[in-house]
Amino acid sequence: MRAFSYERPADLPAALVAIGKPGAKFLAGGTNLLDLMKIEAETPQHLVDIARLPLGEIVEENGSLRIGAMATNSDLAAHARVRERYPLLSRALLNGASGQLRNQATTGGNLLQRTRCYYFYDPSAPCNKRAPGSGCSALHGYNRIHAILGASDACIAVHPSDMAVALAALDAEIEVRSASGARRIAIADFHRLPDATPQKDTNLEPGELITAVILPPPPGGRQIYRKVRDRASYDFALVSVAAVLDLDGERIRAARIALGGVAHRPWRALDAERQLVGATLSDDAFAAAGEAAVKGAQGRGHNDFKIQLAARSVARALADAAKQRMI
Ligand SMILES: Cc1cc2nc3c(=O)[nH]c(=O)nc-3n(C[C@H](O)[C@H](O)[C@H](O)COP(=O)(O)OP(=O)(O)OC[C@H]3O[C@@H](n4cnc5c(N)ncnc54)[C@H](O)[C@@H]3O)c2cc1C
Ligand code: SF4
Repeated sequence: MRAFSYERPADLPAALVAIGKPGAKFLAGGTNLLDLMKIEAETPQHLVDIARLPLGEIVEENGSLRIGAMATNSDLAAHARVRERYPLLSRALLNGASGQLRNQATTGGNLLQRTRCYYFYDPSAPCNKRAPGSGCSALHGYNRIHAILGASDACIAVHPSDMAVALAALDAEIEVRSASGARRIAIADFHRLPDATPQKDTNLEPGELITAVILPPPPGGRQIYRKVRDRASYDFALVSVAAVLDLDGERIRAARIALGGVAHRPWRALDAERQLVGATLSDDAFAAAGEAAVKGAQGRGHNDFKIQLAARSVARALADAAKQRMI
């Protein structure tokens, strides 16, 4: 691990000044950043510890829910309003990591956790995300966990967060603040596709701190989060699906579908959603939506199975949502 300096600012303005120092990075729960520092995939010169800033509150504001960036994954999953109005978010969080990790991991850090591509974690392997211009070892290497949608020849990694997939289905906004002011970023614009610059995971600007995630009033309908992974105890998603199905009797009034484990960012299946509007509940309609969700998907060899897995996972999630008791 490289040497670094450390400070714990007393308040938010001090944190926004501190992050301007050369090579500075925020430290939240540390469950991803510290691992990456140990293998020198991340080499900050200065850590700005935000753990004690008053950013942990979860409060209702005009029908929306404001989730402080330091709210832990455990507290967010267990929050009464989340369980009652946004159950798919609670399910997604509880499907992520282990109990101990969720107690430490934060909302802001979860959004900014980095890919689990094996080569990103192997300092001896070429990796455009870790060392831009060095090449992508996964492209012609072992790519079982990699992307089937939205990838580029520079990088085929996937975003690992379960929470972010739920936030994509719920149309969340990310509130960020820097020394020059505050802004909100729609979740759909927050994470990036790799294109030619896979080293950039998000559209966050240098010096910006995530202060909160805002959930709009919940969409009507039944919510579900389905995760397929190799190991049940804890593991990252091979494919996950966050779905909301709004029904008028047997007819689908509206649908939202977001997939995880398939792309460099949570993947909203807009064509599948449009196709479902007005359809009558049936296994055929769900299967067709699954096929629409993976339209244009490309396997890279070891991950070819994910295309069918994703289509079937979407169909299964929709069928389960249709059977669910109305919330
Ligand atoms: C064994 C293991 C299994 C896991 N399994 C899963 C899983 O199944 N699903 C899943 O979703 N996740 C999983 N995780 C990942 C875990 O959820 C993340 O490590 C965690 O959410 C990161 O949060 P943190 O607060 O610890 O972030 P940190 O490690 O402190 O920070 C991560 C990054 O975010 C930046 N950052 C943090 N907060 C802010 C902020 N407010 N503003 C700006 N930048 C900020 C930091 O600078 C850093 O770059 C797993 C982790 C481990 C170790
Ligand atoms: S897929 Fe992305 S993270 Fe993995 S080796 Fe290629 S460039 Fe690196």
